[in-house]
Amino acid sequence: MKYNVVVVGGGPAGLGAAVEAKRNGAKDVLIIERDRELGGILNQCIHNGFGLHEFKEELTGPEYAHKFIEMVKEEKIDYMLNTMVLNISEDKTIEALGEEGIINIKADAIVLAMGCRERTRGAIDIPGYRPAGVYNAGAAQRLSNMEGYMVGKEIVIYGSGDIGLIMARRMTLEGAKVKAVVEINPHSSGLTRNIVQCLDDFDIPLMLSTGITHIDGKERVKGVTLCKLDENRNPIKGTEEYISCDTVLLSVGLIPENELSVEAGVNLDKKTSGPIVNNSMATNVDGVFACGNVVHVHDLVDFVTKESKIAGKNAALYSLNKLNKGNEVKTVAGEGIIYIVPQSVNVDNNEDVNLFMRVRQIYKNKKLVVRSDDKVILEKKRLHMIPSEMENIKISKDLFKDIKGNITVSVEEA
Ligand SMILES: Cc1cc2nc3c(=O)[nH]c(=O)nc-3n(C[C@H](O)[C@H](O)[C@H](O)COP(=O)(O)OP(=O)(O)OC[C@H]3O[C@@H](n4cnc5c(N)ncnc54)[C@H](O)[C@@H]3O)c2cc1C
Repeated sequence: MKYNVVVVGGGPAGLGAAVEAKRNGAKDVLIIERDRELGGILNQCIHNGFGLHEFKEELTGPEYAHKFIEMVKEEKIDYMLNTMVLNISEDKTIEALGEEGIINIKADAIVLAMGCRERTRGAIDIPGYRPAGVYNAGAAQRLSNMEGYMVGKEIVIYGSGDIGLIMARRMTLEGAKVKAVVEINPHSSGLTRNIVQCLDDFDIPLMLSTGITHIDGKERVKGVTLCKLDENRNPIKGTEEYISCDTVLLSVGLIPENELSVEAGVNLDKKTSGPIVNNSMATNVDGVFACGNVVHVHDLVDFVTKESKIAGKNAALYSLNKLNKGNEVKTVAGEGIIYIVPQSVNVDNNEDVNLFMRVRQIYKNKKLVVRSDDKVILEKKRLHMIPSEMENIKISKDLFKDIKGNITVSVEEA
């Protein structure tokens, strides 16, 4: 089998990339998805809050996915379900295991869109036996929202990222008692709107600077011991508190799924754990592009879509031998910034660039300053910045003439 563009993963990133590749001239496009349906994580996110930027309306996850699945069908894009990509070789041959066994597909260009997986209990070393009742929040979300199972009645959630917050509300609506959301940091790592709508509205306590130091129970979870943490995240003696519960949901981080990328020779960024990309979403491997959560963890799917359109368009141009190579400068995370995606910008590519980044801590009344070789090229005031909300700064193509060296972004006094 041979395709112009093959997209690995049929979540919102893969769907957006496939549609855009087809609309930009790729003759044949294939999506390979290991699940039984297209849509990725969105299928289990039955709450609303999706699509405000992309469609200017508030949709549920499945509704957002449905719009793109319809576009895939309209564009007559091929897709394979229940098919897992096992390996991608440097010559862009994809080996996949489907219902009829192993298949090999040759691609002119590939888009990596495999999303993320959740960190598990093993990754955070909570002492105690291994009783039933400890779930990853995303797995519990799938069981509850798609398979129709209730995971527990009295629940403690560990981690106040968006998934933890959304599951606190979901479990409450399903009839469970959510006793607390426990967070090791002094601030929540979720969007402010989710703290208000998912915790405050339901009187669910958020316990900050607190850790779970023990899970009690042999057959089934009976409770958890909590402890206040000092600024180095060490437990403070004498602050222990026991909460009885039958279920613990872990929402302790996502890890981009990049085993395939590494095998294909793609270089990863240590900060994002995702491929290093330029503003065409091209990786270091010729003809291999990446987008969505596999590149860095996004808080809003709309930004995933934005990125996927760039990846899809450029994959198509590459397959048609029309992608311009040019002069690239690096982006550098300066003071107060953890990482920037893309990690380099082709300044001969005559298109505006959106730089996505996360700040290191909570900042009030500051500005984001973009410099190239010490010359300020852009400044943007920000009243409020928090690590959990991705920052986005647009550099218009008219400014490219001022870019002579690396582009550094830093947080500075306003
Ligand atoms: C609980 C939760 C709540 C959220 N709430 C919101 C919200 O309110 N608003 C919002 O805008 N965003 C929200 N998001 C974020 C949004 O869902 C994600 O940003 C988005 O789904 C990421 O898209 P993706 O395509 O990169 O990854 P995914 O949706 O994870 O899709 C990746 C796909 O790749 C497939 N895949 C992986 N490896 C392989 C392989 N080897 N072979 C074949 N297929 C493979 C997977 O099966 C999956 O279908 C939420 C996310 C979660 C988890």
